[in-house]
Formats: sequence, C-alpha cells, structure tokens
Amino acid sequence: MTTVDLPLLPLGRGSDLSSERGVECPGDLPPASDPDLVARALAAKEKLGDKVFVLGHHYQRDEVIRFADVTGDSFKLARDAAARPDAEYIVFCGVHFMAESADILTSPEQQVILPDLAAGCSMADMARLPQVEACWDALAEAGVQDQVVPVTYMNSSADIKAFCGRNGGVVCTSSNAQTVLEWAVDQKPEAKILFLPDQHLGRNTAVLKLGYSLDDCVVWDPRLPDGGLTAEQLRDARMILWKGHCSVHGRFSPDTIDELRAEIPGIQILVHPECQHEVVLKADLVGSTEFIIKTIEEAPAGAAFAVGTELNLVKRLADRHPDKRIVFLDRTVCYCSTMNRIDLPHFVWALESLVDGVVVNRIEVDPDTEHYAKVALQRMLELPGKTHDD
Ligand code: SF4
Repeated sequence: MTTVDLPLLPLGRGSDLSSERGVECPGDLPPASDPDLVARALAAKEKLGDKVFVLGHHYQRDEVIRFADVTGDSFKLARDAAARPDAEYIVFCGVHFMAESADILTSPEQQVILPDLAAGCSMADMARLPQVEACWDALAEAGVQDQVVPVTYMNSSADIKAFCGRNGGVVCTSSNAQTVLEWAVDQKPEAKILFLPDQHLGRNTAVLKLGYSLDDCVVWDPRLPDGGLTAEQLRDARMILWKGHCSVHGRFSPDTIDELRAEIPGIQILVHPECQHEVVLKADLVGSTEFIIKTIEEAPAGAAFAVGTELNLVKRLADRHPDKRIVFLDRTVCYCSTMNRIDLPHFVWALESLVDGVVVNRIEVDPDTEHYAKVALQRMLELPGKTHDD
C-alpha cells in the first residue's frame, strides 16, 4: 500500500503556507470599491522606483497586468527577474510556484513577493512531495526505479523540482517538453519517464512528438492504492503519467471544436498542450502561450482563431487584434481562479507595505530545496535547441 492520504483544503482557507493549496491572505486590504486604487498603485510604484520590479503573467487580470514591468510566462518572468539584480523587491503577479521559481533563480538579496498567498495552482497542488515519494517507492518495489527518469513540468512546486534534481531528473516547459523527453529517454537503457504533474502535456508530447502509443502510457493516480497500477503495468509502461491536470485547459472539449468549425468557416483551432489529448488531436495548431501569442500576431488580417487557453489572455488578444476574429474555445467563462486572486487591492496593499518598509507575503524556498531544484533546472538549460520559454 503506497497511498498518502492528504486532506483537501478549501481554496482561500487553511494554514499550510508551504503548499500550493490556498491559504488566507493576512493583509489589511483597501476596499475594492476605493476609486483611488489605480492612483495609489501608481504612486507607490513611483516611490519605490527601481527597487521594485513587477512581473505579470499572461493570465493575469487587466487591472493588474497594466502595472507589470514585464509580461510573460513563468520561466521567462523568473529569468527576467534574475536579470535585474538591482531590483530589491520582485512583485510576482502570478501564482505560488512561479514566485518560488523566481526566488530560486534570483539572488539571495532579492525578495520575491506574491500579493495574495491564496494564489496557488491547482495543477501544481495535485503532486505533493509525500505522494511522489510514495510513487517512487512503488517503482522500486516493482523493480523498475533504476530505469525511471523523473521529469516535472515548470508548473510544479519547488520541492517536486528538487525531487527531480535529486533523482537524476529534469524540469521542462511546454515549449521544450519534446527536447526534454528525448533527453530523458537517452539517460538509461530502456528508460521510463515519470512525468509530473500534468498528464495531458506528458501524454501529448509522448504520443505526438516521440511516437509512443497510448498503450505505452499509464496514469499513476496518487489517490489510489499503488497509484491504481500493478507492478506488471509499471514494468510494461514507457511513460508513467501523474494524474494531474490544469483546471482551465482541461475544460476544453472536442464537441466545442466541432460546433465552432460548423459555425465559423475557416476558423483555426489553436490550443495549449495542457489540453486533453482528444482536443489536441482535433486542433490545427498546438503550442505554448508564447506560441499562441506569436501565431495570432503573425496571422494576416481576417484570420479566425478559436483559442484554448486562459480567458484573460484570449480577451486581451482579441482586443489587441480587432482585424482578426478571436474567440474563446469554450461556451462558458473560464478564468484561472487562483491567478485571478491577484487583484488591485492585493497589489496596492503589497506595494504600499513596501513603501512603509514592510515586506509582506515573501516567498522563500529553503536552501536545500533550492539547490536541487536548480540542479533540475540547470539540466534543462543545458539542453540544446528549443526555447525554454514556458
Ligand atoms: S492556468 Fe492552470 S496551470 Fe496555470 S496557474 Fe491556473 S490552474 Fe495552474
């Protein structure tokens, strides 16, 4: 028996500050109805000057991203912060694992701040260290652990990245997953990959880029005894996918693609590889957030796209390209609820606290975790070719 039973904490409650699960934000926040919030944010940012560097993830709300010094995906933003060593405070408008990555890559003198501690990531939260260690033990019991290379997606907590670093593994992004998996299979004879925490990115890359069959892949469910798999299944598998997914990208369905194709002739379906395999199979174009942005930017006027990624970004792309038809690939509204927790009141509170000399909501990774997470990140950075942008 190798399951680890972990209670789910309701989002926004609880006290587990080291996890991706929601926690209460301790701030005495300005009311959202305060008409001066924009002016207050601008004034605080101006007072802080070069001491503060604001990072804005592509999925953030408009009200916050307008204050970002740079925008991008998680890995790019963490590297942007590292390239600004003069900035004492890094305010990360994103989610918890992103702030951890920024803390790992920046100098010890730089302090990383997450304006709302309840901004976690449900996908990262689906793989917790005790669960992954239990899986690792089961792989040993099945006699295959020596063949396994653990690979974690950037969207995972620092301790999962460190687990991969300690165990000969690596980090990947949605841009370089193919390159990373090809590296991983070359590491050992008859190598197997343990892919964390997003089963969809792992499956899509293994099947569509590496030529694996769906039967080569098994899914380890951390909530079932022994992951729901027999020792024989583990021995036969080439790809052991962790049962995690993104609650935003997991929503898109093949049915909606059929409906939109019927409704808008010539529309191109453009999706992120965190989408389900059935959706990716039906799409015209598949790629990272940066790829999605670039594809739309470079398309000719009159082009039509149904985009399967987070809604804040899709809306911004539609606003930025009024000469193109850009629709959301879902019938219902679907924002990333945890990303959306970074709102203007939290942002103003974080900045004004810094002006008062108080660092709130600092995200700090312990030195041992940081060391091994860096080992896994460094293995990725040393790989040739593909961009490392998320
Ligand atoms: S969009 Fe998905 S992967 Fe990104 S932070 Fe939200 S839940 Fe996590």
